[in-house]
Amino acid sequence: MNRKIVLPDSEIPTSWYNIIPDLKNPPAPYYNPQTMKIIGPEDLAPLFPMELIKQEVSAEREIPIPEEVLAIYRLWRPTPLIRALNLEQKLGLKSKIYYKYEGASPAGSHKLNTAIAQAYYNKKEGIARIATETGAGQWGSAMSIACNYFGLKCTVYMVRVSYEQKPYRKHLMHVFNAEVFPSPTNRTNSGRSILKDNPNSPGSLGIAISEAVEDAATHADTHYSLGSVLNHVCMHQTVIGLEAKKQFAQTGDYPDVIVGCVGGGSNFAGITFPFIKEKMDGKKIRFVAVEPAACPTLTKGIYDFDYGDTAKMAPIALMYTLGHTFMPDGIHAGGLRYHGASALVSQLVKEGLVEAVALKQLETFQAAITFAQTEGIVPAPESAHAIAQAINEAKKADADGKPATVLFNLSGHGNFDMASYEMYFEGKLKDIELPQKDIDAAMKDRPHIK
Ligand SMILES: *Cc1c(COP(=O)(O)O)cnc(C)c1O
Repeated sequence: MNRKIVLPDSEIPTSWYNIIPDLKNPPAPYYNPQTMKIIGPEDLAPLFPMELIKQEVSAEREIPIPEEVLAIYRLWRPTPLIRALNLEQKLGLKSKIYYKYEGASPAGSHKLNTAIAQAYYNKKEGIARIATETGAGQWGSAMSIACNYFGLKCTVYMVRVSYEQKPYRKHLMHVFNAEVFPSPTNRTNSGRSILKDNPNSPGSLGIAISEAVEDAATHADTHYSLGSVLNHVCMHQTVIGLEAKKQFAQTGDYPDVIVGCVGGGSNFAGITFPFIKEKMDGKKIRFVAVEPAACPTLTKGIYDFDYGDTAKMAPIALMYTLGHTFMPDGIHAGGLRYHGASALVSQLVKEGLVEAVALKQLETFQAAITFAQTEGIVPAPESAHAIAQAINEAKKADADGKPATVLFNLSGHGNFDMASYEMYFEGKLKDIELPQKDIDAAMKDRPHIK
């Protein structure tokens, strides 16, 4: 059998799949955090190009991918679908495990799929600079690469703890001409107000978002760009699932369960949404979203309106949330530390189409190392959550006497995350679970919509 399915270039999808028209209920609108009124296109215009604002609420099922974007996608797409035969053998599984490898991109993760599209639409509408945030550095790297292709300047607010722990991503951004600042900075009001209370603040994704949004809102030639959560970002990622569908058609198999890790939800959306459409059309298939026990948004958060960021500048959305003031522990899957989640993924969890589980980090590192030693790819600590759950699903199916076909998204490689692996080997990583009292405390300051 063919272990690795790579489609010809001509098989790259030419449209993204927009799940909104296929949802049982229309998504709730976003609200303006200052006025508490429903957001219209004019509220978002200082931050995003009009084409992306339209995509955010589009009722079209298919949105054509511009030729200029496809031309860059072709540098690494289609990404391979790989049967993890060595892993299956090592674990003695009857179940099959497949993975879609998004670490094949120049940024090392799926994030470049949307970065390229976002940079393109901004350039087309005459924008000169993008301001954005990054947690572990993956989104910053992707946006730097994308901006470089389209001749845009790129300013990255990088969560301070990652800036210090993961300097190589910062160097990578410099290769692609971006400027990178450890957040909180003293360049913005949001940053200065945090530093006033806590000069040693390690930062958080919420704070960095506030800084980037403020930078964009206060400069006419600058837009903001978000690497996850928003509907248009999830939609750009559907190239992953659309390719995987075609690839599965060549294997003779079909997934019984699809697993993806969830930070903001975009890579999970990317691999699952095209298959969720098939489930709505009658196929039998399960979807499992995996998050860290230290940031259990979908499993322990509540489904309600909340601010997108700490400083209450980003739109209010209906989603699962741990509260916008939530300060996650320094776990090593930095990309999974956001307090909220995609409104679309949240809605699918709420409506029962998607299941969610939370895993502790030591289990995910163990799975990552077994995977690396068998399949030859060191996974990103974020992706390790998907690997661990894929293994759990396969073992459970075997134990139930019903071997299954499991597909997971390998959202990125971990070549820049070796410091985290080293800490794991040195026994310095702990299993962190978020205490309920911290969740309750962070919930107190939610906006009141309805
Ligand atoms: C950012 C990131 C994630 C989490 O973000 P999502 O929007 O939930 O996909 C997961 N894996 C990798 C490799 C990442 O860089």
